[in-house]
Amino acid sequence: MRLLQLLFGILLLLLPLVFCAEDYYKILGLDKSASEKDIKKAYRTLSKKYHPDKNQGDESAREKFVNVAEAYDVLSTPTTRKIYDQYGHGGIAQHRQGGQAGRPAHDPFDLFSRFFGGGGHFGHAPGHRRGPDMELEVGLPLRDFYKGREFKFSIEKQQICDHCEGTGSADGKVVTCDKCSGRGMVIQKHMLAPGMFQQLQMVCDKCRGQGKMTKKPCPVCHGERVVRRESEVHATVEPGMDKGQRLVFENEADESPDWIAGDLVLILHEKEPELGKTDEQRTDGTFFRRKGKDLFWKEALSLREAWMGDWSRNITHLDGHVVQLGRKRGEVIQPLAVETVKGEGMPFYSEGHLHEHHDEEAGNLYVEYTVILPDQMESGMEKEFFALWEKWRKKIGVDLGKDSGRPTSQPAKAKDEL
Ligand SMILES: [Zn+2]
Ligand SMILES: [Zn+2]
Repeated sequence: MRLLQLLFGILLLLLPLVFCAEDYYKILGLDKSASEKDIKKAYRTLSKKYHPDKNQGDESAREKFVNVAEAYDVLSTPTTRKIYDQYGHGGIAQHRQGGQAGRPAHDPFDLFSRFFGGGGHFGHAPGHRRGPDMELEVGLPLRDFYKGREFKFSIEKQQICDHCEGTGSADGKVVTCDKCSGRGMVIQKHMLAPGMFQQLQMVCDKCRGQGKMTKKPCPVCHGERVVRRESEVHATVEPGMDKGQRLVFENEADESPDWIAGDLVLILHEKEPELGKTDEQRTDGTFFRRKGKDLFWKEALSLREAWMGDWSRNITHLDGHVVQLGRKRGEVIQPLAVETVKGEGMPFYSEGHLHEHHDEEAGNLYVEYTVILPDQMESGMEKEFFALWEKWRKKIGVDLGKDSGRPTSQPAKAKDEL
């Protein structure tokens, strides 16, 4: 009875230890069906992302870096992966404590430098190099900036060879260069004149300055350690993003075992409208113009509509919803008058406020009215019109000698932007 209670107590103590550790697959963003390649890929991406060198002073990143290394360490070895799949964290702990068969967890930094070619380049070594950034420009129609859009594209870039994990060696063996004894540099003597020598330090040509070489070059990269391959990128344009917006994909530029990959930067441009198309063919909202948060639209009215009112228009907005414009009978619109439709401009976007909706902060839609006069009046119509015009002017007592029929109030001034 005592023994049972004791055992139960121990079990209770152990439980939190076993269950508080996060699932290794989850840490790597994978599930149990993940292939060996998936695991490598996840480790490659996440270990670079959370490396303490890149996240100075960020304790949570450091913790993630350690967890990612631990997860990779266990899942990349078939034996430990099997144990983990069956018995979870407890199984791994037991396996390691088991001594003989067990193997201690790797130092995460050691694991990192082994994975990326063993140069210690991005490990503890200070002043590690960073590869160049890559910039790409992409043109999108205004509609995509309004509605937001997700798209995929592929780029060809230099990637660390999967086959040899960036060592360049077929068997994983790397030997010190015998020409430079691992220094990467050699001293060459040049004779300037008899008895006069100049000493030149040069990059070792045998190992190309690496100080080490592979015995058997990797069959995939031929010892180059890197390969050029297509890589797919997923980009998200958030509604309301401005043209010129830079989407940064951290460490997605060319890879090399000798440096931390730079960033891939996608610069969004607004594509020119599709000219020479009818309104029906047009899908890109050509008639909208954008300035910052606001949109601009030109609407044409006939003389009758501008003067007498009683008209309506349905404008199809960039996402297909309809904005109604119109005037009641008797409501005059002056040429070049600008109507403000509140909140019908671009959606609100601010970095760090993704996916939040701020109706009150959306831009406005400015509609500028142009008035189209008829080219010519039919003669009968012209006569009746003129008679009506004179009758009206007499009635309100306008001096026919001076008046040009000009309205007394000035037309609303068009906005500077227009
Ligand atoms: Zn050498
Ligand atoms: Zn290779």
